[in-house]
Amino acid sequence: MDTPKDVAEKLQKRYQGGSVRVSILLDEVDSTMLFDALRILELHAKIYIQRIPVLQERKLRTDLQSSDFVYFDSFPSIRRRTLLYRTAVEYGDFTINHVLGCAHGCTYPCYAMNISKRYGRVENYDDWMRPRLVENALDLLRTEIPKYQSEMGFVHLSFMTDPFMYDPVNSRNNPWIENRTLKIIRKLNSHGIKCTVLTKSKYPVVLTEQEYSKENEYGITLVSLDTEFHSKYEPFSPPASERIDALRALHEAGLRTWASLEPFPTPNIVQQNLQEILDSVGFVDKIVFGKWNYSSLVNEFINLEAFYTDCSDEVIGFAKSKGIPYHIKKKTPRNTKETQSLFHELA
Ligand code: SF4
Repeated sequence: MDTPKDVAEKLQKRYQGGSVRVSILLDEVDSTMLFDALRILELHAKIYIQRIPVLQERKLRTDLQSSDFVYFDSFPSIRRRTLLYRTAVEYGDFTINHVLGCAHGCTYPCYAMNISKRYGRVENYDDWMRPRLVENALDLLRTEIPKYQSEMGFVHLSFMTDPFMYDPVNSRNNPWIENRTLKIIRKLNSHGIKCTVLTKSKYPVVLTEQEYSKENEYGITLVSLDTEFHSKYEPFSPPASERIDALRALHEAGLRTWASLEPFPTPNIVQQNLQEILDSVGFVDKIVFGKWNYSSLVNEFINLEAFYTDCSDEVIGFAKSKGIPYHIKKKTPRNTKETQSLFHELA
C-alpha cells in the first residue's frame, strides 16, 4: 500500500512545473492521504499552496480546502510589459516590483495594496495576500538595464511589495520569491548597479557571498517593538526581534544596513519609547524616519504636529550622536531636501 511519501512522489512526477486545484486531486486520492502527501511536499518547499481564501474568520488558514491550488515546483505568476521605473519616493532612484501582492498583509493599511486595488490589479485584502511573481522579470531586465543604465544611480527593491516576503504558514521566507529576488540582485550587481533593499522579513545569509555587491544597502522596516502592535498591524511578517537579528548578521558580515522607521505610529495607536527602537538598530549605517499617513486614527491624535516634531528631533539627535546619516521623509516635520540623497552617497 502507498505511503504519503509514495503519493507525494507520484504527484510530483505527474504535475511537475504545473498547477492543479485540490478538488481535482481529491477525485484521485483519498483526502487524508492527499493532505499528508501535500504537507510533506510543502514542508520541503517542493510545492506552493495558494490558499483561497488565505484567511478564515480573520485567521490565517493552514489547512487544505478543495478551492486551493497546488503549484508543483512553480509559483503563481503574471507578466508585465515593463519593470524598471523612476520612483516618486524622494530618497529612491529607480525601482522594481517583481511581485504583485504581499503575504504580510499589513493593516496600516498598506498603501501598495490600496493602489493595486485602485488599478484593478487585486480585488481585495485576501487577494493582495496571495503573491504572484512577475514571470518575465529577468527578461525585462535584460532589455531595460542597457536602456536606463546611464541614468541609474541605484535600484530599490521594492516600494510596492516585499522582496524577502515571509511565508507565515511555514514560518520561513517564501523560497520562490527569495530566489527570484536574489537572482535580480545578482543581475543588477553584475552590471555594476547597486541595490537598496527594504523588507519586513528576514535577510538570508547568502547575501554575504561574493556574488552580491558590497555596495548594496539592506534595510528593514521597524516601527515598533511591541508584540500587540505587531499582531494587529503587521500580522503575518516575522517579529521585529527576528528581523533585527537577521539584519545584524549582515552588518556583522561587513554589509551596509539601514532602518526605515515609517509609518511611525502615534501614542493613541501604541505607547512606546522611540529611544528603545533606535537603540535596537543602533548598528545601522542609515536611518529613514516618516510619519504615519492615510489614517483617521493618527489624525485623531491631538498634538500630532508636536508629537512628530519631537520624534524627528529625537531621530536626528540619535543619528548625529552616532554619526549615522539620516533622512526625515516628506510630510514629516523637519523634512529637508538636503538629506534625501541618502542612498546616492557612498557610506
Ligand atoms: S510589507 Fe509592505 S508591501 Fe507588504 S503588506 Fe506590509 S506595507 Fe504592504
